Order: sequence, then structure tokens, then C-alpha cells
Amino acid sequence: MPKKYELIKFCHRVHQAGYVAATDGNLSIRMPDGTILITASGKRKEDISRSNICRATLEGGLLSSNKKYSTESKLHFHIYKQRPEINAVIHCHPPFATAFAISDKSLDVPVLPEIILTLGRIPLCNYAAPSTDALPNSLNDTIQYANVFLLQNHGAVAVGKSINEAYNHIEKLEHYARVMLNAELLGGAKQLSRDQIDELYRLAPTVYGSNIDARNRY
Ligand SMILES: [Zn+2]
Repeated sequence: MPKKYELIKFCHRVHQAGYVAATDGNLSIRMPDGTILITASGKRKEDISRSNICRATLEGGLLSSNKKYSTESKLHFHIYKQRPEINAVIHCHPPFATAFAISDKSLDVPVLPEIILTLGRIPLCNYAAPSTDALPNSLNDTIQYANVFLLQNHGAVAVGKSINEAYNHIEKLEHYARVMLNAELLGGAKQLSRDQIDELYRLAPTVYGSNIDARNRY
């Protein structure tokens, strides 16, 4: 499927999943030629079509003549510049993950093996006003390795080698946040021990087919 259509498909999916309301959120893909396809600003994600996808350079130059790109484009460009292997970024406001982000409650705890081995660490980035230069910079401490980021008093960001992977990351984050909220009602999640976590990292390459970046481990 052409990249532009892939991007449109996932715009519709984040809306259907309830990860955005009204015109919230923005999604992008890095093209093989290094340019970025990114959603236009002020458009409902369920209504995104070809004419609402902008093409830009990493320096912010708009190559498509039709639309103004997302107000959070700086966040996307910043991630692509720091992470050459990343080809898709999703920013949205999934309600359970965002509830943690606005309550200053971290999800960065080792409780679920599959989250530990796929998402890794889950940084809670210091608050910065939307659309400012401070927002992309708030990711800097963990931008080199994290797959997902909670934005304090705002929402969440997921990155991936493909848009499919970035979406899997945001979906896992939101599901995990929902589980953690339920666990709070039951008295709180029980964390895995150091030995149990180390066992997971030992098993990861053979059993789970993944070898999580050393910086992204507990
Ligand atoms: Zn936002």
C-alpha cells in the first residue's frame, strides 16, 4: 500500500479507537527519500483524506502547496532527526494513558513481561506547552531509545520503524494504562523482582525474538 494511504488508514484507526477527540492528534511517516508525510492541522482524523496529508522536509519546509501542516510538526521532525531508524510517529490523547500523564503518575514500572520486552521504559516527560519548541525538547532525556512517551498534562507519543509498529506501540501503551488503573482499584500492581526481570532479558532473544536496547531496560 502506498505510504500516503497507510497514513490515512492509521489516522482513521486512531479516531475509531478513541485515542483522539475532534481535531486532536497528528501522525506522520518518513518517506524513503527522507521527506515527511504529516497530517494537516485542524482536521478530524476520521475525515483525513489525500488532500489533508502534507509533505515537508525535515527542516520544516512545506513541499505540498495545499495545506498547513500540524502544529506539532516540530515534535515529529525532532524525533526523526534524533532517530534515523524511526519511520513513523503518532501523537494522540488516549484517555487511560493521558489520565496517568495528567495525574503525574508514572507507568514506568516493571509489571508486565510483554510490555517490558516490547515497549521497554515509559518516560513521563516534563510538561511543555503544545506546539512550542519546549515540547520536542521535553523528550530529550530518553529520545534515543524509548518507543513511547507520556507527555505530562497532555497525552502520548509512540514511534516505530513503520506506522504499523508505531500504532502497535500506542495501542499497547493504552491497554497497559487501562490494566494499571484497574490494578490500582485492587490495591496496586505487584512489580516483578530483579531476578524475574533479568530472566526476561535473558530469554528475550530466543523465546520472544527481541533484544531490547540496553538503555531501554529496567
Ligand atoms: Zn496533543
